[in-house]
Amino acid sequence: MKCATACRWGCDARRITRADAQEFLQTIKSLPIRLSDPVSYDGLFSMADRHGLTVYDAAYLDSAVREGLPLASLDNALCKAAGKAGHKKRWPAPLCSIIALKRLAYMHVSDLRGRKPHEISQAISLNRRNFLRTVTGAGSAAAFFGPAALRGMAASKNRKAVVVTFGGGARDDETFMPDGQENIPHLLKELVPQATFLTNVVNKGILGHYVATASIVTGVYETFNNFAAVSPNNPTVFEYYRKDLKRPATDAWVVAPSNGFARIGESGNKQYGPGLGAGVILPKRLLSAALSSASDGARYQHLLRDNYETPLYAPSLAGRQIELDQMAAVLKLSVDDFAAHARNLVSPDELSVYIARQLMRQISPSLLWITLHDIDIAHSGTFSLYVDGIKRTDRLCAELWQAIQKDPEYANKTTMFILPDFGRDSDIDSGGNGFQHHRTGDAVSRTTWMMALGPDVKQNVVVDRRVESTDLIPTLGAYFGFDARLSTGKPIAEVA
Ligand SMILES: [Zn+2]
Repeated sequence: MKCATACRWGCDARRITRADAQEFLQTIKSLPIRLSDPVSYDGLFSMADRHGLTVYDAAYLDSAVREGLPLASLDNALCKAAGKAGHKKRWPAPLCSIIALKRLAYMHVSDLRGRKPHEISQAISLNRRNFLRTVTGAGSAAAFFGPAALRGMAASKNRKAVVVTFGGGARDDETFMPDGQENIPHLLKELVPQATFLTNVVNKGILGHYVATASIVTGVYETFNNFAAVSPNNPTVFEYYRKDLKRPATDAWVVAPSNGFARIGESGNKQYGPGLGAGVILPKRLLSAALSSASDGARYQHLLRDNYETPLYAPSLAGRQIELDQMAAVLKLSVDDFAAHARNLVSPDELSVYIARQLMRQISPSLLWITLHDIDIAHSGTFSLYVDGIKRTDRLCAELWQAIQKDPEYANKTTMFILPDFGRDSDIDSGGNGFQHHRTGDAVSRTTWMMALGPDVKQNVVVDRRVESTDLIPTLGAYFGFDARLSTGKPIAEVA
């Protein structure tokens, strides 16, 4: 109502045209707005009276308090009243201005208006490449590598690889772009200087977390329904690895974020499939089985929520996900110790990394895949939680790399790959809702990065050429010495 009123005044005063007003109101409509009523209108009046606010402003404060949401305001009186009302979640005025200006700037990128999608995508890609190059300060890989780089590679029996998906769904804006860099101090200061950093990794597949991760794992863009309890159609990296190299079941593991990932360890392909894949550990499922009472379960909801997109989806479990008693045997961790430790953890990703580190200590698998997912809380629409997720993921990646360096089973023989499963929507696409979702399939949500670190990888090198998410598995094939024969990707010579 207030926005429409402001537009009406603007038209009357000839500050804006009717067409601009219409366009602005359409843009507002594309925001994820949910209406909520105050508990009582009398209460609203006394709140306004108490703090010397207009009833409008009291309504904002009332909904921020009731919903437990941050209050974003440039209005000093309102911010003061929020402080007095004990509402601590506030975005300070400078941050509000930056967000408002950024949105306006995006909405008025006039030189991109009317351009064709591939032109916009090229402009974005050129822009981000320049940014990414400046953050690393690294040299180009072209001088070090040619097509012959793969040839001299001998598969080593001792080699190990840890793959971490930096997810689910992180944009450049909140990571490597200038405004985002404060969220990823560990990647920027500790990991990138030791890594070969690929700045232009494109995911051309379906942007749902399970199907996209399955596409990375198989090296083929899988096309099944993201919310179906199915195995990937094409052989997974774990099957190639175990069948070609005759490795035991204990040598390949996945730690996955939600029950929907239960079948990611092995495909439905007849040449491979059952019995040849990886064991899948679903830490949240194990924790819910380990918690002794229903009230315990309610207290640890922040760890147990299965996914951030579809609260009603409850996939049936199958595949090689392990059960509580198997976990106790494999990880040599008593169920009580596991539950006690988990209770102190703040997030599902912390739980996943805890489990991954137990696996490394107890059975030291040579191929370990960890899918992080906290960032996907962005679907709730709360920007601060999304950014917290990125900061945590940044820290956890560094902790994993440190753990690798300290463990004699892994140090000096492990390559770690870190890559987001995909991005999230841009702020300029009205079909998207910006950071909250990944539904448009625009260039921003498809274009991301990857880094590789390890004794066989050049340090502080940037690779700008375009690669695809499906190239990772053939790259692991070149590294370990197996043939990812059904993958549509190509080995990335600069890191293989
Ligand atoms: Zn998501």
